[in-house]
Amino acid sequence: MSSTASAPSPSVRRLAAPAPGWTKTTDVVVVGSGVAGLTTALRVREAGLRVLVVTKAMLDDGSTRWAQGGIAAALGEGDTPEQHLSDTLVAGAGLCDEEAVRMLVTEGPGAVRRLIATGATFDRDDEGEILLTREGGHHRRRIAHAGGDATGAEISRALVEAVRTDDDLELIEHALVLDLLTDAKGRTAGLTLHVMGEGQRDGVGAVHARAVVLATGGLGQVFSATTNPAVSTGDGVALALRAGAEVADLEFVQFHPTVLWLGPDAEGQQPLISEAVRGEGAHLVDADGVRFMVGQHELAELAPRDIVAKGIMRRMQETGAEHMYLDGRRFGAAMWEERFPTILASCRSHGIDPVTELIPVAPAAHYASGGVRTDLRGHTSVSGLYACGEAACTGVHGANRLASNSLLEGLVFAERIAADIIERDRLGKLAPRHEDTTRPVEVVPLLAAEARAEIQRVMTRGVGVLRSADSMAAAVEGLAALAEPEPDKSEFPQVETWEATNLHLVASALTAAALLREETRGCHWREDAPDRDDENWQKHLITTLDEGRLQVG
Ligand SMILES: Cc1cc2nc3c(=O)[nH]c(=O)nc-3n(C[C@H](O)[C@H](O)[C@H](O)COP(=O)(O)OP(=O)(O)OC[C@H]3O[C@@H](n4cnc5c(N)ncnc54)[C@H](O)[C@@H]3O)c2cc1C
Repeated sequence: MSSTASAPSPSVRRLAAPAPGWTKTTDVVVVGSGVAGLTTALRVREAGLRVLVVTKAMLDDGSTRWAQGGIAAALGEGDTPEQHLSDTLVAGAGLCDEEAVRMLVTEGPGAVRRLIATGATFDRDDEGEILLTREGGHHRRRIAHAGGDATGAEISRALVEAVRTDDDLELIEHALVLDLLTDAKGRTAGLTLHVMGEGQRDGVGAVHARAVVLATGGLGQVFSATTNPAVSTGDGVALALRAGAEVADLEFVQFHPTVLWLGPDAEGQQPLISEAVRGEGAHLVDADGVRFMVGQHELAELAPRDIVAKGIMRRMQETGAEHMYLDGRRFGAAMWEERFPTILASCRSHGIDPVTELIPVAPAAHYASGGVRTDLRGHTSVSGLYACGEAACTGVHGANRLASNSLLEGLVFAERIAADIIERDRLGKLAPRHEDTTRPVEVVPLLAAEARAEIQRVMTRGVGVLRSADSMAAAVEGLAALAEPEPDKSEFPQVETWEATNLHLVASALTAAALLREETRGCHWREDAPDRDDENWQKHLITTLDEGRLQVG
């Protein structure tokens, strides 16, 4: 592994070309170790192909581990994929790809059973039937959960255990993937990555592969307050844009309505109070105890997330309050302890006892409905590059994700990608190895690590839950100012500099799309265009990066 010292300029860091000292060759490289990445890796391995999983932190450091509520699938008596489809389409506000949703809901139950066969244990009743709960937008109990409210932790545990026990599956932790390598024909040939540690100085290396799967998760860290962990910096979307791939629906960021409110200046990952708490009967109230969601939607507190988030924001504006409250006192201590042990502990660690007190809540950035555009087999617009999980835009979520459909999407589309790779390999259609023919990676200016917090503030002020042309114009200006080269203080580029650069590109793309979409739809809420406008806007916005300029249309 070599350092990147040969590539600096006085003021701006540049992506280095892969150093010959650190290279690896494999068939398929999977970037990310959440539900999407590990499921892809396991399924591809089953066919005997060589697989390398690369992740920038520890194996369980993505959003998957944090998922609370559960995974949606028509597993219950009387429930059908058709009903799940119908709820998903309603939440998606006219922009779901119905074929993609149909695949999700019909293949979902089988994918959950295969996850169970891989080792995940879900909560069951005395007869051994999987217990199902309800969440916003679902007209039925169809959310399977584990450990009460620790579903993601259990899924992550089971998948990590499965990959760790597969001796032929290669894993590299603490390696941040930077950019795609392509061959002379523009086909995927591998990627560059910044490897940390390994007994040597940090540095940039390369993996040569016949297919690359981006499973890099979400982009919540674009905003100051988010439920997403620190690794969710939209790296996959940024990489895909730089590689020439299409990105879609970026403006649709879901703000979770009930995130524990920790004060006006709280930044970074915030504790989530799962929708399942409302699903089990907790009410949203204002400071006077009024249930303000009643009458706003037939499902009241269990309306789709965008509606509840808007309801909370409206009430906050009307009353001048900084947050609303969730009242779960009716559950009693035993139910809190058994059903929501993680949330109970999290609240108590912040000095709030939900057994006897109201929980202060406010919306925070939670889920990216958009991402790298794919077809139904996970192909992006770049040959040999796949995307799945939260990093992808399969068309399943439309303008707003239905609760607990994301873990399911990660599972179902990971399996679809694995099947496609296996089939292509069998038919001799998987790209050959191109170690000797990779084109050099284009150099990209890098931002200083300190830009991260300012990007987050600019985005929260301008492109948060409530948006307008003025607020977003200010964000465009703020982001442009940040793109000016900063004097670089560090000797070598750090992970934080790559992440700040990715956040900036993703924030700019998101803002450009949100500015263009002059209507309110799903989780995109414009104060200056409050109505849904099907005549002009029932369409997807596709973003590309063309010679350094973002194009949206
Ligand atoms: C608090 C919380 C609660 C949630 N609850 C639910 C729920 O109940 N039900 C539900 O369906 N969904 C839920 N979600 C959403 C769901 O958890 C995520 O959408 C899903 O887990 C994403 O899985 P993933 O595999 O796509 O990405 P992640 O699990 O986020 O994994 C991304 C991986 O990519 C790696 N990575 C990122 N960038 C790079 C890079 N440049 N180089 C190398 N590695 C990289 C990360 O380290 C990580 O390993 C919740 C999310 C949060 C944050």
